[in-house]
Amino acid sequence: MADYTKVTLDESEIPTQWYNIIPDLPTPPPPPLHPGTREPIGPEDLAPLFPMELIKQEVSQESYIDIPGEVLDVYRLWRPSPLYRARRLEKLLDTPAKIFYKYEGVSPAGSHKPNTSVPQAFYNAQEGTKKLTTETGAGQWGSALAFACAQFGLECEVWQVRASYDQKPDRKTMMEVWGATVHPSPSEVTEAGRQILALDPDSPGSLGIAISEAVMRAAPDPDAKYALGSVLNHVLLHQTVIGEEALLQMAKVDETPDLLVGCTGGGSNFGGLSFPFLREKLAGKMDPTIRCVEPAACPSLTKGEYRYDFGDTIGMTPLVKMHTLGHGFIPDPIHAGGLRYHGMSPLVSHIYELGLVEAEAIHQTECFEGAVTFTKTEGILPAPEPTHAIAAMIREANRCKETGEEKTILTALCGHGHFDLRSYEVYLDGSMVDYEYPEEKVAAAMQDVPVVA
Ligand SMILES: *Cc1c(COP(=O)(O)O)cnc(C)c1O
Repeated sequence: MADYTKVTLDESEIPTQWYNIIPDLPTPPPPPLHPGTREPIGPEDLAPLFPMELIKQEVSQESYIDIPGEVLDVYRLWRPSPLYRARRLEKLLDTPAKIFYKYEGVSPAGSHKPNTSVPQAFYNAQEGTKKLTTETGAGQWGSALAFACAQFGLECEVWQVRASYDQKPDRKTMMEVWGATVHPSPSEVTEAGRQILALDPDSPGSLGIAISEAVMRAAPDPDAKYALGSVLNHVLLHQTVIGEEALLQMAKVDETPDLLVGCTGGGSNFGGLSFPFLREKLAGKMDPTIRCVEPAACPSLTKGEYRYDFGDTIGMTPLVKMHTLGHGFIPDPIHAGGLRYHGMSPLVSHIYELGLVEAEAIHQTECFEGAVTFTKTEGILPAPEPTHAIAAMIREANRCKETGEEKTILTALCGHGHFDLRSYEVYLDGSMVDYEYPEEKVAAAMQDVPVVA
């Protein structure tokens, strides 16, 4: 295997179980609270929005959960995904570091999102749901859910953040080909959308607003449920197929990572890759540094406060303890739409508070500079979100060049950017701007975050 470029697995090596990290943590994450009573919520509070199997997974204490055969059948369309050794990039950077990337852009939607949209659609179909509603930022989650709904005969209604709806009409068309209905968000079709539009008719939208709209549509409809593409425990659980495969692939070439890097919007691709490695670390079998990378314009982990806040903008969801910039915070329209979220996965937030992972924030021009270098050498054109992981990985490879360290770096390349070429055009013509951290906007938004004793 001396000169290998990619490490592949056989279909028979697709993981048959998802890994739940919660029982392995030294303390459990704090529970979600009912927004009215401020008491921990029970399954009945979530039942209008999610099927019972996903609610069970959300609070499961089992370390492993079997992946249903019907889900594995769909996973086989693109899994196992390849692990690459970035030899051409290493050579260009002239670094002693060994760089690996686990590529999830081979899925039908072009990102890691189908790893969870497929089981979510499956459990919903099994429990009699007719329609799923959701939000999408960059368009990746909406595409992934539209694809999954088509597999299991469900209707799909998507609220696409306005900035992305205008910039990426092709994502909308892709969702429509899979049979979904797509609205720009904020929209006129929900009360939440109308409220925002009344205040700001030109609102670029945000993930928080789009979540409010999709939840508002699903909650009163007995045939409809809501699906979230990130943030929740069950979503991160489903994504662990990435890390389980990567563990096998690294072992095949006799390598152990010294550093894992992944971009964090709501934490799902990061958690998916890193949790199985964190299991090994907690068991004393390896000791990688695990690093989250977020946009400097929306730095929830590095600048946000760790406290209870709403997951959406209007304040309809349960209160969850997470690193937040305030549920009313609307981030500047950076190109990485999937990272424009005011909060973070409560599970990733908890693990960060425990000191098990670290975080850094990077400006978007450095990210795109790294992505262009990556594309020129490795050929694959990354989505704007994982350009953050690539920039962090290049920073580290350059440090290794200075120190002579032969670190092994594993990067989550969670999607391709074939629908994001307008962003590359803006970078190439020199007109991409970096937004400074909006301290005052965040301070204002934090004033509306409820005080929970
Ligand atoms: C949705 C998305 C993200 C952000 O979500 P996470 O839950 O943090 O992974 C990042 N990259 C891509 C390609 C996405 O589609």
